Formats: sequence, structure tokens, C-alpha cells
Amino acid sequence: MVQSVIVIGAGITGVATAEWLRRAGVAVTLVDRIEPGAPEQASYGNAGLLARCAVVPTAEPGLLGKVPKMLLSSDAPLFLRWRYLPRLLPWLVPFLKNSRPQRMAAISQTLAVLTGDSVDQHLALAAGTPAENYIKTGDYMFYYRDKSAFEHDSLSTQMRRKLGFDYEELDRATLTKLDPKLSERYQYATRFTDHGWLSSPADYVAALADFFVQSGGKFVSGEVAAIEGNSVKLHDGQVLQADKIVLAAGAWSASLARKLGQRPFLESERGYHLFLKNPSYMPSCPFMVTDAKFVVTPMRDGLRCAGIVEFAGLNAPASDAPIRLLKKRIREVYPDLTWQSEETWMGHRPSTPDSLPHLGPIKTAPNVICAYGSQHLGITIGPRLGRMAADIVLGKKVNMDISALDPDRFA
Ligand SMILES: Cc1cc2nc3c(=O)[nH]c(=O)nc-3n(C[C@H](O)[C@H](O)[C@H](O)COP(=O)(O)OP(=O)(O)OC[C@H]3O[C@@H](n4cnc5c(N)ncnc54)[C@H](O)[C@@H]3O)c2cc1C
Repeated sequence: MVQSVIVIGAGITGVATAEWLRRAGVAVTLVDRIEPGAPEQASYGNAGLLARCAVVPTAEPGLLGKVPKMLLSSDAPLFLRWRYLPRLLPWLVPFLKNSRPQRMAAISQTLAVLTGDSVDQHLALAAGTPAENYIKTGDYMFYYRDKSAFEHDSLSTQMRRKLGFDYEELDRATLTKLDPKLSERYQYATRFTDHGWLSSPADYVAALADFFVQSGGKFVSGEVAAIEGNSVKLHDGQVLQADKIVLAAGAWSASLARKLGQRPFLESERGYHLFLKNPSYMPSCPFMVTDAKFVVTPMRDGLRCAGIVEFAGLNAPASDAPIRLLKKRIREVYPDLTWQSEETWMGHRPSTPDSLPHLGPIKTAPNVICAYGSQHLGITIGPRLGRMAADIVLGKKVNMDISALDPDRFA
């Protein structure tokens, strides 16, 4: 019978895990070196989308052919610090192998189970807490230059439809009724209903963590140096003990897992946001700008433009070029937009080569449960991942086949 659990990492995944365990009557200690919702975590600055239909893995078929051209163009949403390439290769090779069509189909099916009920999972986690005020429900759109660009994207759209995420096609006239300030550049769109987004992801995570503490959960501030047996050692000398330990440290999970004998394939897919505060105009729902591959989300204090993938590891400082690109791209969407001030941000998506998270016990340390690697979808699937991690800790049956999420699958 599990009575005590330590959860390492207070991003969306760790906070959701801790709160589900607390509700099950477990004594939970949540540990982080920063406050929940602080800018250093990926859960702070993301696009806030509860992307139910995001079932297409990052490694899409045909990607290998596109990458060299993208890396050479300053207008493409992919950046690489070339010195980092040798360190990236062990992750990049299996990542590219996963872009084969058969793999894509299998991965998409697992993603659909993870994302499908994400809005309901958020509503269930946040119900009765101040966090529920940050959940918005509504449409999610994809904007295309024209109908042929939409048809060119047919593999993704067919995949979504096949997995039960149906959509409506909108021509320019219908689209501009919904988004009247949209530039001429975008002539076509698809609309997916029954989606959701967070009006402030950082405040949402902080509100859930506050509720957890006010309801009897414990938060310890400190940086974990190592996990040994049932103990968690912090850099300041503190030692915490519990029956089970959940590792939910996002993109930083790999170094702790490695010390336990695991060989995690986890990379930081760095992403950026440009947050336009008090803009002159706000669209009514979030949308993906498909040619520029970034998301625009109406949030509480402004318009967040988020996206870009940059490979440069966990320690390199943020780059300027991705922010320049986002500024240029949002002008192409709303040429007349003005705003009072702006915030820029870089964060680390915890990404695996097959776009699927690591969930379950580590073979060499079975009392440690992994719950990390949710890549571009960590906000969407965080509450579900946390709930399943809690079920695993408690020895309960998990409500999906999690063999594809085995943390040792790349060993
Ligand atoms: C630009 C961008 C846009 C995105 N948009 C979306 C979106 O619209 N929808 C979506 O679903 N997802 C989106 N994502 C992805 C999503 O933000 C992440 O997948 C998710 O936030 C990961 O959550 P996490 O809890 O696993 O990690 P994090 O939020 O990074 O939290 C990990 C925590 O672990 C702590 N930690 C690490 N190591 C230690 C240690 N040794 N000791 C103590 N604490 C430690 C860190 O301090 C941190 O607080 C986006 C990401 C980016 C970068």
C-alpha cells in the first residue's frame, strides 16, 4: 500500500500527478527548484492550446527531404546551432526513422488516445479550484494560404479525420466573418470544434499548485541532485524519502534518469513566444498559421504567438532570430495590429524521438515512475499523463495500453 510519494518537477505534469495522488489520499511532496508557473519551465510560456486533434507526430513522412532547405532558410521555423549537431545525432537518427508512414500511423493512434479527452481531463482536474477560471473552450482553426495549400496538407487532415477529429472547411468570405482583421495572405481555413485553451498557462499551473498545498500537499523548494533507492537528495543537503518517486522534471528528466541506469532518449526542442500585450485586436479562438508553423492564442492579457523549433540544448542562451521571425510572421497575419508592450520567451519542450511520452517504472529502479517527454503536447495531455502516473503509482489499471510509452523502449 503506497502511503507517500515524492513528485519531482512542478510543471503541468508534476502538478497534475501530485494533485491526483493527493486526492487519492496519499501524502505527496512536490519538489521543484523554482516556483510552479515560473518562466524557466515549459509550462509557463507555451501557446496554451488543449489540442485534442494534435495527433500528427512531429516526425511527419517526407520530413527528411525538407530539413536541409529549412535549416538554410532564415524564414523557416527550424533552427540548429551547428556545434550542437554531434550531441543531437543519437536522438535525431531515431527521430527521423519514426517519420516512416507505418510508424506515423501507429504513433498517431496512441496520440489520439492521449489527446482525445484532454479538455475533459483539464475540466476534471481543475473543477472546484481557482484554476478552472483559466480554461476556455471553443474552436481551433488552421489557416492556409489557399485551398491548394490545404490540399497539400491532406495527409495530416486525413489522419485527424480518420481518428475521429472532424472539421469544417472555410473559404475566405466565411473566414473573415470570424476573423475580420485577417490579411489577404490567408484565404482558406479548417475549423475543429470542441477544443480548448488556457487564458494564462502559468497562472493555471500556479493555481493548481496552490490548491494542492492548501489542501494538504507539501511543496519543497530545492534542486534534486540524485535519486537513490527511496530517497531523493537535494543539492542543499536535504534528503526526502517516500514509498514511490515520480520523475516529472520535463526536459531535465534525462540526467536524473541516466543516474538510475536508464538510457533516456530525450531532447530539448526549444520553442519561443512573442506575447503582444493589450493588442488593438484579438481573434476569438486560437489558430495555427500553417505556412509559418506557429500558433496564435488569445490570452487574458494579450495575444501569444508561439512556435519555432530550435536545437541547441538546455544550456545555450536564447537566440534573437526566432523572435525576429515571429514578429515578421504576425505582421503577415495582422498587418494593422498594434500593441502596448511585448514579452519574449524561450522554453524547453521535452521531446522523445517518437513524439510519445515516457510513462511507467524504470526497469533498473522500479520504485521510480517516469512521467515526462510530452513534447509539443505537454499542456494538452498533462492532466491525463498525471492521472495515469498516479494510477501506476497506486497499482491501479491504467485506462489505455501504455506499452508504446514504456520508458525503456529505446534501450
Ligand atoms: C513555444 C512552445 C509552445 C508550446 N505550446 C503548447 C501548446 O499550445 N499546447 C501544448 O499542449 N503544449 C505546448 N507546448 C509544450 C508544453 O509546454 C510542454 O510539453 C509542457 O509544458 C511540459 O510540461 P512538464 O511539466 O513536463 O515540464 P516543465 O513545465 O518544463 O516542468 C518541469 C519542471 O521540472 C523542474 N526540474 C527540472 N529538473 C529539476 C531538478 N533536478 N530538481 C528540481 N526540479 C527540477 C523544472 O524546474 C520545471 O519546473 C509548447 C512548448 C513550447 C516551448
